[in-house]
Amino acid sequence: MLRVRFWGVRGSHPTPGPRTVEIGGNTACVEVRAGPHVLILDAGTGIIGLGDELVRERRATGKPIVACIFYTHTHHDHIQGFPFFKPAYMGDTTCYMFGPGSLQMDLEGALSSAMLPPTFPVQLHEMNALKLMHTVNETQVIVIPPNGEPVVRNAFREAVRSGPDDVRVDVLRTYAHPRHGALIYRVTWQGHSLVYATDTEGYYGGDQRLIGFARGTDLLLHDAQYTEAEYSAPQFPKQGWGHSTPEMAIGIARAAGVGHLVLFHHDPAHDDAQVRSMERAAQALFPSCVAAFEGLTLSVPAGPEPEPAAQHVRGNRKRGKG
Ligand SMILES: [Zn+2]
Ligand SMILES: [Zn+2]
Repeated sequence: MLRVRFWGVRGSHPTPGPRTVEIGGNTACVEVRAGPHVLILDAGTGIIGLGDELVRERRATGKPIVACIFYTHTHHDHIQGFPFFKPAYMGDTTCYMFGPGSLQMDLEGALSSAMLPPTFPVQLHEMNALKLMHTVNETQVIVIPPNGEPVVRNAFREAVRSGPDDVRVDVLRTYAHPRHGALIYRVTWQGHSLVYATDTEGYYGGDQRLIGFARGTDLLLHDAQYTEAEYSAPQFPKQGWGHSTPEMAIGIARAAGVGHLVLFHHDPAHDDAQVRSMERAAQALFPSCVAAFEGLTLSVPAGPEPEPAAQHVRGNRKRGKG
């Protein structure tokens, strides 16, 4: 069973304050547990709380932290938590980091450039953890064996073998996000999968490449930043800004036959009531749908609760933290 927990669900910039207490104000970060493996999707400010949790686990178990971090792209809202990710300052932590290059920079160059003086006192290479960087693109597949290190394979040039107990992460690039696109990940483990598709804008008729990539997945996490009215407003339309509406997300979910849909990357201008209103409208069109909030925990497939805090997509909502 894949276990998914949302630590940051906001796009663009953090939004603390009383109007966002229920949904949460941290930027993008999703934790995925596949058996012993800790996968982290994006490192927005949500990763700070996740880091504290991992440090608590490390103290309780005595086991050094090993995490695989997958960056969709290197915009601020997907990287800005990493300089405050406590496990990265611990010398016995291992971070396998995957993500795209951009502007002739590899992943390490792009992440390093966000941590240079005078904007931050500690440089990336000065963080004590062992950081193993992999610049990846959609020609590659990452395979994580049960008791081994992740291996990056070429999806086209080698037969990519992965057993049911290997975590397999497939990669798709969306071009519908300024200015250099973003990566979309499909995580598969023991016959179940989820697709993380944030910072992408819908196409007329649906993004056929994404529909194929997400086909049959159990859980789709999809960008749903704007209302249709905002997207196509006569003045200051959000068209072309690289984000989707809930209707676009639902279009992909239906066409790809996914089990459950999570609306993600909420607009910083949307308060709790606005996000809930968008969620209700979306559920009227696609009942198996929920708006992500901080603390939301899902299991894939939906099954017996692995822990009291967990819930299913259709289950009762517990209140998120602020
Ligand atoms: Zn974003
Ligand atoms: Zn972005």
